[in-house]
Amino acid sequence: MVDEWDERAFEDEFPTFDDDARQHAATPQQLQQQTIGCPYCGEPIDILLDTSEPNQEYIEDCSVCCRPITMVTHDDGMGGAEVAVYTSDDVF
Ligand SMILES: [Zn+2]
Repeated sequence: MVDEWDERAFEDEFPTFDDDARQHAATPQQLQQQTIGCPYCGEPIDILLDTSEPNQEYIEDCSVCCRPITMVTHDDGMGGAEVAVYTSDDVF
């Protein structure tokens, strides 16, 4: 009797990260200023939300502690945008 080795193929599949480096030429009307609190240092930071695209996710470095804040924006149903902030540890 021969033992058969069931060799599992470990596929090195990494998710491809779309390099979203497109320049956004947003008109001033579509930019909504909002103040968020940095999830790392707690300092208030003014950001500009591009409300022409209500659901986005991007990373912006904190202007105080320079750590990368993940911002997730949602349509708030009132023509504006709502933003949630996460540390890089919260993102999966
Ligand atoms: Zn900070």
